[in-house]
Amino acid sequence: MKISFPYMGTVLVYKKLLQLLGHEVIIPPRPTKRTIDLGVKYSPEFACFPFKVIMGTYIEACEMGVDTIVSSGGFGPCRAGFYGEIHRRILKSLGYDIDLIILDQPLQDKNFLKKVKFLKGNNSWLDVIKAVKFTYRLIQEIDRFEKEIYRLMPYETEPGQAKKAWNSIQAEFDQAIDQAGLERAKERSLDILKSIKVHEIPEKDKIRIGIVGEIYVVMEPSINMDMEELLCKLGCEVERSQYLSEWVDHNLLPNIFKKSRDAMFIEKGKPYIGRAIGGHAQQSVGAIVDFKDRNFDGIIHLMPFACLPELISQSIIPRISKEHNIPVLTLAIDEQTGQTNALTRIEAFIDLVRNKKASVNIA
Ligand code: SF4
Repeated sequence: MKISFPYMGTVLVYKKLLQLLGHEVIIPPRPTKRTIDLGVKYSPEFACFPFKVIMGTYIEACEMGVDTIVSSGGFGPCRAGFYGEIHRRILKSLGYDIDLIILDQPLQDKNFLKKVKFLKGNNSWLDVIKAVKFTYRLIQEIDRFEKEIYRLMPYETEPGQAKKAWNSIQAEFDQAIDQAGLERAKERSLDILKSIKVHEIPEKDKIRIGIVGEIYVVMEPSINMDMEELLCKLGCEVERSQYLSEWVDHNLLPNIFKKSRDAMFIEKGKPYIGRAIGGHAQQSVGAIVDFKDRNFDGIIHLMPFACLPELISQSIIPRISKEHNIPVLTLAIDEQTGQTNALTRIEAFIDLVRNKKASVNIA
């Protein structure tokens, strides 16, 4: 079985879990213009942008000989729940009759166990639990280091240092296959992190930007103009509202074990969106409130063009921005997004945030 997955964020964790279960894993190419062109060509015109990019990724994975793809699903009042079936039908019409395994929340998906059994193969349940536990720890560590990288990157003395360090950290974790390996990777990564030389900047002059929005455009740099790096280059610390470990906490672990960050966002967003409307709209508005509570200076809100949940959050954002006194810039992303235009808007927004902070510092 040659198995693959959609390309989103730090893909080494998906690869690691599937490898630990004994599968031959094929990592799909990082999305490029070709991926988007393929996706746009074979997707319904009205499909959301993430659907199209993932479509292109699946086609590229099939071209590499993949026969099984594992992905996450969705439920509730948005189109995510249809993704899997439509992708499957389009792939079939193109001659790729593959297994597309869509994993939904265990309590929402009556076939969840059946799908897990398929992926389990000949492994014992104990081995599966060990592999899942290991991967969960791996994701948590990687997310922790990634957050730290984008906190340091704006202050690096030598451009490119933090990016290089991030690549080395991922390579360290890629070698880990057990708990001892994970500890070693952690120690080495801490040394790598310490080797990043940074300018000392007074706290009052630091600019912190939160990125909120739909999960795919928030988490996949190849389609969001490498937003985190871009903001760091403009001198801002960056944190996202979505990290893979937090998605797992919210979607796969019952809240009785630990209250997820998403659950906290939903709580904080309730005065603005009181019920689930699909996607991550509730989390997006709650995350804006949370970033403000943590003294962030501005928000970039990313939404796929025509994403219904994020259109709703976009319509409420001016009120949140006013009530919480925090500037928010919404960027709609699709295959037509003009990078130069978006860059000009982002630069102007960061200037505004910086000037606002400077005027508060003076007062
Ligand atoms: S959240 Fe938005 S982009 Fe994602 S499936 Fe729903 S409508 Fe489409």
